[in-house]
Amino acid sequence: MSAMKSLRDLYKIGKGPSSSHTIGPERAALKFLERAPEADRFTVILYGSLSKTGVGHGTDRVLKETLGENRTEIVFNSEDLADLPHPNTMDFIAYQGETEIQRMRVMSVGGGDIVIEGEPADENADVYPEGSFAEITQFCRWRYITLPEYVELNEGPEIWDFLKTIWNTMRKEIQDGLAATGILPGGLNVSRKAKLLYERTHLLDIPQVRELQLVCAYAFAAAEQNAANGTVVTAPTCGSCGVLPAVLLYMQNKYSLSDDKIARALGVAGIFGNLIKHNASISGAECGCQAEIGAACSMAAAAMGELTGLTIDEQEYAAEIAMEHHLGLTCDPICGLVQIPCIERNAVAAKRAIDASNLAHMLVGTRTISFDMVVRTMYETGVNMSRAFRETSEGGLARLYSRRSIGS
Ligand code: SF4
Repeated sequence: MSAMKSLRDLYKIGKGPSSSHTIGPERAALKFLERAPEADRFTVILYGSLSKTGVGHGTDRVLKETLGENRTEIVFNSEDLADLPHPNTMDFIAYQGETEIQRMRVMSVGGGDIVIEGEPADENADVYPEGSFAEITQFCRWRYITLPEYVELNEGPEIWDFLKTIWNTMRKEIQDGLAATGILPGGLNVSRKAKLLYERTHLLDIPQVRELQLVCAYAFAAAEQNAANGTVVTAPTCGSCGVLPAVLLYMQNKYSLSDDKIARALGVAGIFGNLIKHNASISGAECGCQAEIGAACSMAAAAMGELTGLTIDEQEYAAEIAMEHHLGLTCDPICGLVQIPCIERNAVAAKRAIDASNLAHMLVGTRTISFDMVVRTMYETGVNMSRAFRETSEGGLARLYSRRSIGS
């Protein structure tokens, strides 16, 4: 298996609501601007999922903001083209007068990463020589090191400051989300619920319920900030950005954990997220929601394992359980907005991550399925899934909701 890139590539700070539909296209547009500074107008053609859910996800808005509101034309090509290199493909064309002066085809491959057709995948070098969890565990056992030590060995000690910055941003997205009220943008009339969840007190006499209520409130807060085009961290994507921070904040508050400990847990979560990204996909357009929320749940389960002192084997088990029970999860956002089912799904996955981590500890020594195997399974399941369930809003809840709203 191939080597992996830095965790700096996985955790990106950017504007929601979608890493592949807003952060990726924005990065592509900035690159194209550098290549065609003399252009006086642009056309961007969106294909596949970018075309089908681009308006709901804000792709056209972010492209116009970046390239120039009055000189950018967005074309939505929703035909199901068999030869698209990726479900999130876009063509950038620059003109001077009537003459085409520059053209670039870009694939937004998930988590805000982009690949330009005909060019190497990206400029960042691989920093992890190992490319599977089996290889990583073998190396850690041989060196008698933990996963955080493995992260530091490959990334250098500066990685902890980077991860603390990531943690501060995650914490802020939750704080901002808990303070906000009102209706989310997009026309679906979805009200924010994080503050309500946080403040609702009628269940306070059952401590376990209150704890789960807090986890849900944190996940809703981050996911609602994302839906409102706020600043979030891809963990591993914008749509799934609430799962990992919710579990981490719950643990930090409950056990008064230092930011150093949280940074180490982010390092562990990052290894699992990186493996999913490099050996499968973190793109809903490519593999459905299992690749986004399932990946986030795996990361959060492993992070919780780090914070509760689980061994590497138990952390792997936790991440494996978390992904295994998301296999087949479809992506069917109503009206192409990252709201229903996305926001609530973040809360459900955060609670499931806690369960997975606890279950791994209870069942220690009985594991049959490896993390590498479940990741491969997720990918094979995803690419075999009907296109209607891969971020096109043509299947599932999105399809039935649109039929209901037109009364058929
Ligand atoms: S359903 Fe899942 S993968 Fe699809 S947009 Fe929502 S969070 Fe992302």
